[in-house]
Amino acid sequence: MKPAPFEYHRPESLDAALALLAQHGWDAKLLAGGQSLVPAMNFRLAQPAVLIDLNRVAELDYLRADDGALRVGAMTRQRAAERSPAVARLAPLVAETLPFVAHPQIRNRGTMGGSIAHADPAAEMPAVMLALGARIHLRGPGGTRAVAAEEFFTGLFGTALEPEEILTEVEIAAPAPGTGWAFEEISRRHGDYALAGVAATVALDGDGRCREARIALLSVGAGPVLAAEAAAALVGQTPGEEAVRAAADAAASRDADPPADIHASTAYRRRLVEVLVRRVLPRAFERARASAE
Ligand SMILES: Cc1cc2nc3c(=O)[nH]c(=O)nc-3n(C[C@H](O)[C@H](O)[C@H](O)COP(=O)(O)OP(=O)(O)OC[C@H]3O[C@@H](n4cnc5c(N)ncnc54)[C@H](O)[C@@H]3O)c2cc1C
Repeated sequence: MKPAPFEYHRPESLDAALALLAQHGWDAKLLAGGQSLVPAMNFRLAQPAVLIDLNRVAELDYLRADDGALRVGAMTRQRAAERSPAVARLAPLVAETLPFVAHPQIRNRGTMGGSIAHADPAAEMPAVMLALGARIHLRGPGGTRAVAAEEFFTGLFGTALEPEEILTEVEIAAPAPGTGWAFEEISRRHGDYALAGVAATVALDGDGRCREARIALLSVGAGPVLAAEAAAALVGQTPGEEAVRAAADAAASRDADPPADIHASTAYRRRLVEVLVRRVLPRAFERARASAE
């Protein structure tokens, strides 16, 4: 199918894009990599009257290491982030996870900002942003605001973005010593959306106990899920088989609220969460111990 007719604009600056959004509001859609929006338009699931193409807004395409943080411009292609030494150093969880996002051809076009703004519950980057405690920067007619990832994702394809706002940047704090991370997912074929996935960051205190844990789940809720019960089972514990098992049980039985669909039942997705948490946490703790030395 072909998309319904639409008016097309290709601004060359963020200010010009914001002015167009202010003019058209709910009638308009931003076009980034087009890897989610264009198929939705072709199926006429999305029928924006106005398309504002961000591909000429060069000021949104950057990767910067700044004050101990990684700053990722919204129009950074997923593939550029995957290959970036700065991402590998300052946000290794992002680097580890990006190869699981679709296929290289799609990552060549798909953007970091587009994936996060789209907020697909089965997408990897929203869960990774939750696990990293990233800050999402938004710009609108009233200026710029930064929203914590856990407040940014609000439900099924829902975000804190207002119709006149553009996601401009993702800010990720560099890992402190004693911090570890890991990502795992299970999909039917590599590159498919995952049946379930788990991203985790953990931090150890001076006695080797878990000081902080952020475990995020994908494909098992209305949006990316920050597994608070699993984290509570870990904090204050010496990471070992018992603590990991308790966290995995909590994630599967209490944090996850998986849908059933043609690909997997609710019970099967819960089981995947349990298995994935048990795979991810030992690797994350091992890295945390190595980085504390
Ligand atoms: C075959 C196939 C397989 C895929 N598999 C996966 C997968 O396994 N995992 C995965 O995570 N993704 C997958 N994707 C989706 C892909 O990662 C997309 O690139 C991504 O979801 C959207 O990024 P985009 O830049 O293409 O955004 P677009 O499609 O251009 O936009 C998506 C939405 O975000 C909005 N938007 C975009 N940029 C901004 C911004 N800066 N501010 C505010 N709103 C904005 C748009 O208006 C639109 O509503 C797949 C896509 C395809 C076609």
